[in-house]
Amino acid sequence: MQHNDTKEQRLLRLLTQGLLAHAEQKTASELGDRSQYIGMSDIGKGMECMRSAVAGKLGMSAVSAATDLGTLPPDDVASILGRQVILQRGHWQEHGIEKALVATGVKLVPQLEISIEHNGVPIKAHLDFILVWGGKRPAVRILELKSNERIPDSLYASYEAQLYGQVGLIKSCWADPCFSIPETDVSEATFPEAMRIMFDVELPESPNAVDIEAWVLSISMSKVKPFGPYLPDEDILEACLQTAVAIWRTAEDVRTGNLELNDIDYCRGFHPLCDWCDVNSDCPKFQAVSISSDSVCGLELEELAMLKERKADLEGCIADAEERIRQTYSLIGVQDWISTGDHRFRVTTVAGRKTLDRALVMDKLISLIGDDLRAQAVLEQCEKTGKAHDRLYVGRINKPLKSAA
Ligand code: SF4
Repeated sequence: MQHNDTKEQRLLRLLTQGLLAHAEQKTASELGDRSQYIGMSDIGKGMECMRSAVAGKLGMSAVSAATDLGTLPPDDVASILGRQVILQRGHWQEHGIEKALVATGVKLVPQLEISIEHNGVPIKAHLDFILVWGGKRPAVRILELKSNERIPDSLYASYEAQLYGQVGLIKSCWADPCFSIPETDVSEATFPEAMRIMFDVELPESPNAVDIEAWVLSISMSKVKPFGPYLPDEDILEACLQTAVAIWRTAEDVRTGNLELNDIDYCRGFHPLCDWCDVNSDCPKFQAVSISSDSVCGLELEELAMLKERKADLEGCIADAEERIRQTYSLIGVQDWISTGDHRFRVTTVAGRKTLDRALVMDKLISLIGDDLRAQAVLEQCEKTGKAHDRLYVGRINKPLKSAA
């Protein structure tokens, strides 16, 4: 059934359709047919949840450009739009960051592709940016951009696996014809050949004489934080390659009917990946007592989910307003209270929170006691475990939607 939309809703539908179509065209032109190889993001996902990675490889997605948005209620369209903005804003930032880095004069390659075959499995890595320096101290830096609502304290394991895979492949494939750069003459070249063609830079024939590191730039709306360095590590690269083989073979088993998706192992416990997972609607992890959304309990749960979404929006608005007021306060150079209506405001500096650096305490104890195990035992005796408490988890179900075809 087509909906009688307002003009605003028609505009949002148009934008949503455009974002879905653009995402598919961009993936096809930059990454090719993703069903024909295992990529680094598949490996990262597979290290966290094999079921989700295999479903991704089989092209199981809750929504696509073929989804008939005209039949969906406005709330569903708004939810797809919100998700697409979060998923695609990283690509928009990528464009600006590339321009900024190029403006520094640094030798930069966007979208370097590394292509290999491991135990019969095609594997490709697409690197956001490579920075290169030749000369007496040759160096290569991989930069991977991640767009985050808020800058995390530490990186997700799936991001780190991606980085270790990329930096490991650059080093292990250095002298092999595995490197290509779209829209250039570089195709199936060794890494030194590729850099010679691109920049006329001479690099050693062996990677051992090159300083190679990978970094993640986590970018929010107003902050940027680098995470790294990630260095080539043979054991971690081998674990990445084994994961690629496992995803490929398992996907093949599901395709040929030897295995059901729900027979595949999945990550346990609360996991941030689950809210974004395209196959979370029927995941065995959430085998649940289903209650009607019209029942009293169902209505209450839906209301809670909605309140939590509004709370998250509100917290974002409060953080923005606080930041704005803090900046204005420092610009006008006031030290005192500002009164307005029923409220007064003042910006003060409060002392930082004191925390105990566990690793440092351990080092000090070892140097005092002179015995690792006793130091560990002393530390454990001083630890307190808080009382267990209930946690209410609310997650969105990404239901597969109808396609237009
Ligand atoms: S919902 Fe969570 S556990 Fe289930 S497949 Fe997706 S990521 Fe894995």
